[in-house]
Amino acid sequence: AHLARIEAVDEKVHAFLHVDREGALAQARAVDEKRAKGEKLGPLAGVPLALKDIFTTEGIPTTVGSKILEGWIPPYDATVTKRLKAADVVILGKTNMDEFAMGSSTENSAYGPTGNPWDLTRIPGGSGGGSSAALASFQAPLAIGTDTGGSIRQPASVTGTVGVKPTYGAVSRYGMVAFSSSLDQGGPCARTVLDAALLHEVIAGHDPLDSTSIDAPVPPVVEAARNGSVEGMRVGVVKQFRGEGYQAGVIQRFDESVALLKDLGAEIVELDCPSFDRALSAYYLIAPSECSSNLARFDGLRYGLRVGDDGTHSAEEVTSLTREAGFGPEVKRRIMLGTYALSSGYYDAYYGSAQKVRTLITRDFEKAFEQVDVIVSPTTPTTAFPIGERADDPMAMYLADLCTIPTNLAGNAAMSLPCGLAPEDNLPVGLQIIAPALKDDRLYKVGAAVE
Ligand code: GLN
Repeated sequence: AHLARIEAVDEKVHAFLHVDREGALAQARAVDEKRAKGEKLGPLAGVPLALKDIFTTEGIPTTVGSKILEGWIPPYDATVTKRLKAADVVILGKTNMDEFAMGSSTENSAYGPTGNPWDLTRIPGGSGGGSSAALASFQAPLAIGTDTGGSIRQPASVTGTVGVKPTYGAVSRYGMVAFSSSLDQGGPCARTVLDAALLHEVIAGHDPLDSTSIDAPVPPVVEAARNGSVEGMRVGVVKQFRGEGYQAGVIQRFDESVALLKDLGAEIVELDCPSFDRALSAYYLIAPSECSSNLARFDGLRYGLRVGDDGTHSAEEVTSLTREAGFGPEVKRRIMLGTYALSSGYYDAYYGSAQKVRTLITRDFEKAFEQVDVIVSPTTPTTAFPIGERADDPMAMYLADLCTIPTNLAGNAAMSLPCGLAPEDNLPVGLQIIAPALKDDRLYKVGAAVE
């Protein structure tokens, strides 16, 4: 049924970069056979899923939305891919994304944009717009995303779906193509809080192949999602997460959500987190710095595209011709920014200062979580904007992640879930819930209560 749905609508939506029809049918048949033989089935047996094209899949193309990896077929599965297969999930295909996960609209994909199923002339968010669009257009009931600065939560917000960025280190990064390693985190996307929890439980857990993987039990997210409640909880509202640049309808739905939380028995606490105002600036130094280093491996020799290999160019020239042709403008901008921020003479002024701001943001969160159990905010300041509107204005694009970025810098957990439509444009608004590191279950407890 989902393959038929993809055939019927994805020409218009363009959520998928690659549909693995044969593979998906084979996986589904294997589940049927296991069931017929009475063998033990995985926890999500037979459930179809859309996988962001940033996770390696053995024998299936993985492009990361970039021309530089066009035609590359990974020889191995990411840990997330492996765990999905072990849970008997049926992987339908790979979803569209901003190139190397850099962007907030999926317009930076080298393979063309994805439409928002609510209005195809608008963006589905980014970088994981393909995964969220697949959910919102009923092409898949589950999807996987990655969130470096908001790429799971912001697409969830603008497509009226649920997306979770787990605590940093909760989901293995092995086989997940690196953008900014100290921020990148894979996570579940779904249409309901409970579905997200069921997927969370399957993909999270310690992985010795990822040196930053958390060696601790996965928090009881499914149990929390089944027992939604905010009775007696302290919920923080941060002063810095509103004001100029926020759409009136977004603030209206957010205020209604806070009122609902209060009605359901939560105590609302006003919080001041002054360093959050600097989060965007710190992020746009740290993320490009790490990306400039991570993307050095795309040298035209190891994987994918190779340009100028005709016997007349040196290895160095092949590398530079390949990178010139293979990377898009946003990726080049970030590599240049990052290289500059890390250069000798500038390192302390830029990268060093950004790291200090990062520490201040972490401390603001620590202080906040002495007073509250969770924090809530709008996920993103506006609803889905028209395709093309911010394409030539990187600063306007970066503002989409104003509320999501602090969480990545501090490494704690956050969820976005729908909280109604903005009255002025009838487009979905997202409510963000933020929890301390390792307390991911609180997101599901609160999310399930207000869903
Ligand atoms: N939009 C942010 C960026 O462009 C976040 C991306 C992400 O989370 N991968 O960097």
